[in-house]
Amino acid sequence: MKLLEYEAKQLFAEEGIPVPKGTLISRHKETLLHMDTLPEKVVVKAQVDVGGRGKAGGVLMADHETVMETARRLFDTRIRGVPVDRILIEERLDIRHEYFVSITIDRAKKQPVILFAETGGVDIEETARTEGAIRSVSFSPLLSDIPGFLLRELCGNAPADIQKTVNRLYHVFCRKDALLAEINPLVTTPARVYAADAKLIIDDNSLGRQGIIVNRDLTEREREAEKHGFSFVELDGSIGVIGNGAGLTMATLDLIETYGGKAADFLDVGGGAEQERVKIAVQLVAGVPSVKVIVVNLLGGITKCDEVAKGIVAAGIHQKVIVRLAGTNEAEGRAILAPKGYLMLDTMELAVKAAVEAAQ
Ligand code: GDP
Ligand code: MN
Repeated sequence: MKLLEYEAKQLFAEEGIPVPKGTLISRHKETLLHMDTLPEKVVVKAQVDVGGRGKAGGVLMADHETVMETARRLFDTRIRGVPVDRILIEERLDIRHEYFVSITIDRAKKQPVILFAETGGVDIEETARTEGAIRSVSFSPLLSDIPGFLLRELCGNAPADIQKTVNRLYHVFCRKDALLAEINPLVTTPARVYAADAKLIIDDNSLGRQGIIVNRDLTEREREAEKHGFSFVELDGSIGVIGNGAGLTMATLDLIETYGGKAADFLDVGGGAEQERVKIAVQLVAGVPSVKVIVVNLLGGITKCDEVAKGIVAAGIHQKVIVRLAGTNEAEGRAILAPKGYLMLDTMELAVKAAVEAAQ
């Protein structure tokens, strides 16, 4: 789950990383409550999960006189289509230099990897194209600190406080079970080093351990599916997909793509699903408003085709359901669906093709 800047900064600060003094508001008039403590020069920052936020107009400079009006304007703006419902007003830093640091996992090496650039900021993607502009190191995940020699290699001529901050960011990364911890820009001012921006993505598998009850990145329906133990993802096409097993479900999605269709969502019911689970699965998939047709692609093994068929019928949905059932109790399954007029096809190619046509 992605944290917003102000949330990430709070966690960074707990680990001793200096962050600018800031105030979170959810209406422009709340600015009035903080006038006494706001510095003369501030930065007004939309708390939205949008890449390139600054360039898209989500980071504005203001002073004491203009801060409320600036906040009002920002609340009225959409940043790349995303509405602004919280704003962080921060002391404006006297930035001398912007660095970039990002920590993630190198899955091939099974090690943490730290990226660092001497020229950070909003043009980091440009910088990244220059050979050698981003340095990286990786090391054993058993170490609780980045080894000193690697830090020196990574940070080059940057001040020693930068190295210290990078190591603290690594502590945050470990402690918060993060998939990504990033500061861009990590800045120097005449006074000290600051994390001027903050990004933190927590591994969804450890939300419980991190005390996060609700995964905000999931839709309501995805949360419901999670409760039932289904893998379910919403997309933006018009075909609903149900499969059993990740491989078969992904193959179904690939076929939809091949035949020029677009999936609205997909759900993997897993192994051995019985009538009730299939019913819930079909209802979840059909519940996405853009779903025009559903393709059910199930291979009976532990899963019994007659249970699946009963579940499909019990779901009682209004969309057309195209079914490919093969394997255990296939004949019994077909016997349940045939009288009800479901379109049943023998191969997944045929079923998907029919679904793509029906969705057009
Ligand atoms: P992003 O676009 O979402 O990455 O937003 P950032 O928080 O990184 O801000 C974008 C840019 O605004 C930074 O790279 C800085 O150049 C500038 N900026 C942000 N905060 C300050 C500040 O306190 N002082 C100054 N002078 N510039 C800032
Ligand atoms: Mn940034």
